[in-house]
Amino acid sequence: MAKRPTPEHQANMMRGSRSKNTRPERFVRSLLHRLGYRYRIHDKRLPGSPDIAFTKRKRALFVHGCFWHQHESPVCPVVRRPDVNNGFWSAKFDRNKRRDALNIAALESAGWHVEVIWECDLRSPRLAPRLKAFLGPPRAEQ
Ligand SMILES: [Zn+2]
Repeated sequence: MAKRPTPEHQANMMRGSRSKNTRPERFVRSLLHRLGYRYRIHDKRLPGSPDIAFTKRKRALFVHGCFWHQHESPVCPVVRRPDVNNGFWSAKFDRNKRRDALNIAALESAGWHVEVIWECDLRSPRLAPRLKAFLGPPRAEQ
């Protein structure tokens, strides 16, 4: 299902910053809350200020829009680069991907475990079990 970039997204892209509190992010946060997890969001002390972080567990989640982060899965239903000849957008996408990879590498070298949740994963009934397997049982604290 192709999604048109919203003006808000576009403004964020033009400024070169990652958009926060996107619909997919809010979806995952509310699922985690229902499952009984506590978390921090956009913690600036961590590389890439992960969308969702579990400090004591040293686990972090990035929730990526398939379009902006150019999800490369063959089963992803979201359309790829709208125009590969458009150098501006191509460069933006490449920078996004490179920054994602650097942030994840920095977190992992600091002993964190990182999982990327893609927008197209949100519809899967396996998302909740996958999150539980990654995080371990919920506790009162993070
Ligand atoms: Zn996808």
